Amino acid sequence: MARTKPNTFTKYASFIGQKMTQLGFIGLGHMGMPMALQLSQQFSVIAYDQNPQACTEFRNLGGQDAPSLEAMLENVHVVISMLPNGRILMSVYQEIIGLIPKHALLIDSSTIGPLASLEWHAMAKQHGFRSVDAPVSGGVKAAKEGRLSFMLGGSTENIEAAKTYLQPLGKNFIHTGDAGSGQAAKICNNLVLANTMIAVSEAFALANRLQLNPQKLYEVLKTSSGNSWVIENYLPVPNLLKDVPAENDYQAGFSGTMMLKDLKLANEAAKHLEQNLKLSQSSQDIYQDMIDQNQGDKDFSYIYQLLADN
Ligand code: NAD
Repeated sequence: MARTKPNTFTKYASFIGQKMTQLGFIGLGHMGMPMALQLSQQFSVIAYDQNPQACTEFRNLGGQDAPSLEAMLENVHVVISMLPNGRILMSVYQEIIGLIPKHALLIDSSTIGPLASLEWHAMAKQHGFRSVDAPVSGGVKAAKEGRLSFMLGGSTENIEAAKTYLQPLGKNFIHTGDAGSGQAAKICNNLVLANTMIAVSEAFALANRLQLNPQKLYEVLKTSSGNSWVIENYLPVPNLLKDVPAENDYQAGFSGTMMLKDLKLANEAAKHLEQNLKLSQSSQDIYQDMIDQNQGDKDFSYIYQLLADN
């Protein structure tokens, strides 16, 4: 049987088609910068951040930036946002909603919680836009490597459309349910992360007092029932694991301020629904101490240093 030649024209046309899709990206921070750079390899991306230094860095790394949100929105087919919180996301959208070209798909990857997310979806719907909440897990390293996990809330049709653009960024795409459900999953995930980080930190703080070699505790935890993502990927204790913030003077990564924000989102949602979260309330107080000690810009794993010093 004759072998079918790969249709290079079709491949080329599809590549050109992708390149012609114009993506607008808002927020070039710890996460947004590597995400926008990854996307730029497959799509035509134009990005904006209110911080001019972030825009300059993006340009120096080969990206294309816009001088204003208005300029960024000209001719976009998709808008992706990666902003610090719901208040900022809503104020940005209040400014731009009337400027976004009709039929654009709106994707928000910031962590803003389910309540704010529903407000954002409602605003999008009111103006005739399709919208998907698409928060992520995995941190800066996964963002750089295109290995994020996405939690996707919205209609199946909108999620499928969003996945076309998010594909270069992720390895897991879970459709969690209706609008806002991605955010619900995200705050539950971060509640586990926040509490685990404190549990691991307390274990190593206690080990210090017990004069147990931290390397030995690490070996035990990694192969025992105390293992977790934090043990394997994000140890808060220096000198045990490469490429973690603890090896880099706790430079964020994921800042203590951001983690406190996410815990508050979980605790607020729980309060709203009359669900008691005793452990997460205590965790919130512990991360609040970190912020009160002016260490909020450090990575959230710095919590180990505070707990060990106690
Ligand atoms: P960041 O603070 O590093 O970045 C936010 C960026 O948004 C900054 O560059 C800031 O200048 C920009 N910005 C703020 N207001 C703006 C406005 N009005 N217009 C345009 N740009 C504006 O935050 P990050 O760590 O990149 O996190 C972004 C979101 O992703 C947060 O919601 C966070 O909770 C979530 N998240 C972060 C991580 C992580 O590891 N850092 C992981 C998963 C999810």
